[in-house]
Amino acid sequence: MTTVASMKDVAAKVLAGERITPEDGLYLLKEAPLLDLGSLAQEVRYRHNPDPIVTFVIDTNLNYTNICDAFCTFCAFYRTEKDSDAYTYTVEQVMEMVGQASAKGVTTVLLQGGLNSKLPMEYYEELVRETKRLYPHVLPHYFSAPEIQKMSQVSEMPVSEVLRRLKEAGQETLPGGGSEVLSNRVKRRLSRLWPKGRAEDWEEVHREAHRLGYRTTATMMYGHLEQPEDVIEHLERTRFLQDEALVAGMEGFTAFVPWSYKRGNTPLAKRVKEESGPNPYLRMIAISRIYLDNIQHIQASWFSEGKKTGEVALSFGGDDFGGTLFDENVMQEAGFYNRTSTEETQSMIRDAGFTPAQRTTKYEILRVFE
Ligand code: SF4
Repeated sequence: MTTVASMKDVAAKVLAGERITPEDGLYLLKEAPLLDLGSLAQEVRYRHNPDPIVTFVIDTNLNYTNICDAFCTFCAFYRTEKDSDAYTYTVEQVMEMVGQASAKGVTTVLLQGGLNSKLPMEYYEELVRETKRLYPHVLPHYFSAPEIQKMSQVSEMPVSEVLRRLKEAGQETLPGGGSEVLSNRVKRRLSRLWPKGRAEDWEEVHREAHRLGYRTTATMMYGHLEQPEDVIEHLERTRFLQDEALVAGMEGFTAFVPWSYKRGNTPLAKRVKEESGPNPYLRMIAISRIYLDNIQHIQASWFSEGKKTGEVALSFGGDDFGGTLFDENVMQEAGFYNRTSTEETQSMIRDAGFTPAQRTTKYEILRVFE
């Protein structure tokens, strides 16, 4: 793919409401002046979300097991069954943690775990059902695509049936983790178990979820072995999936959430010498906003790139500030620690020049803090 576009041409196209091509995207990623790109993205942000409101959700990240047999090279979280600090919590133990989160005002619990071959389908259904029964105001935002694929393998059921059963138990949304970069060139290089975990596997889960009426998020973890062409392929695949959902009369993705790879304690660090910094993040937020013309929300988090960069990203196309993430553990295992409170989240949004609003997992506004 060669770039033949210019900022003027791409801006004219975007301002006329036209869709940009992979070549345009590659130009924006590799050559466009950063501030011009940011202003253009911000124009598009106001087209999708006209009010100067930035949303956030009061949420937490919990884990039910760290036992995993996927051995992803970018992961510092997983353990084998033999490790002394390996764990799998019972449904009761997880409910205790959900209860503690609920007492802090959490409305969304993001629950994820390793790919644990010992856990039956009933365990996952019970996690959802019990959450709904005990904490009806907490939305179970559980299980990313690789976990759904694992359930499908272990229980020998198609992905669609796994998702149908979880839906019947009360689940309505699915987090977007596990996509990394949706390019099999990258996935082949990242995985020790290739061809497991292909881009198409992640897509299959989200396509089926959208068909069943779930809202899901799309994510990207960049800053490791990918080339600019791979990032464009990821955006192209995401935009295509969302087109499919919308054409079928479904709502599909709520938001797109990019973040950068963190090296600490991961085997991949031997091959990736430096972490991606604030400028690539701002560029990624802006390009996501422009490229993904069919996704309403772009999440610019305070979490993964630091609070100041997160605030700046709200002027580069982001209209959402993610969650409060009270108990994040996965990035913490990679030596990356960052915490906030509901009050600080609001004050960061105000500092950035916007009005904070609390939302649900489905991006419905609960309260605007004028
Ligand atoms: S990223 Fe997830 S699937 Fe991969 S090794 Fe870590 S826990 Fe397992």
